[in-house]
Amino acid sequence: MAENETYTVNQSKISIIQGDITQQTTDAIVNAANSSLMGGGGVDGAIHRAGGPAILEECIEIVNKQGRLPAGQAVITTAGNMPSKHVIHTVGPIWRGGSQREPDLLASAYRESLKIAAANNLASVSFPSISTGAYGYPLDKAAPIALKEAASFLQQPSSIKEVVFVLFDARTYEAYTTTLGKIK
Ligand code: ADP
Repeated sequence: MAENETYTVNQSKISIIQGDITQQTTDAIVNAANSSLMGGGGVDGAIHRAGGPAILEECIEIVNKQGRLPAGQAVITTAGNMPSKHVIHTVGPIWRGGSQREPDLLASAYRESLKIAAANNLASVSFPSISTGAYGYPLDKAAPIALKEAASFLQQPSSIKEVVFVLFDARTYEAYTTTLGKIK
């Protein structure tokens, strides 16, 4: 793998690949959901289509119990028919120019997802690029937050040994590899 595609923190690894998150075999994949948890477009739609109805059933139970999921929080369900075991649903912020706590909320979405993965004793987690699709977060601002949050989480001991960023398109993949090269 090229130099800008992996980063070792303590004994854990961050990697960056271009691909489809629904096909990943990590213990969990993260969904860039919306607060309703009822599915949607983009990666959310792809995950519900690939995983089947069991995911939505658990999401409905969660919303019935605790209400809508605020931006920056995360919950965990089955991955249904996908190779992964769990889906961690998190809600990134909608970009509104950057002064509405977007950076804090985006960092929190990554951190809370990793926390719930560690609480479930998972070893590997795949992330999409949260908020940079329909939610409009600029890629050059989102990529450093994503990678720094993952690196800082891995600095503390936990069950998580691997974090994979699974980027769908070439532009997003390039933004993450360039950013990783800078923050290493
Ligand atoms: P948000 O609403 O948080 O912006 P989107 O799903 O619109 O979420 O976009 C987030 C990112 O997920 C975008 O970079 C989009 O290209 C990407 N994406 C879409 N489908 C997939 C997939 N199957 N695997 C990984 N990433 C995906």
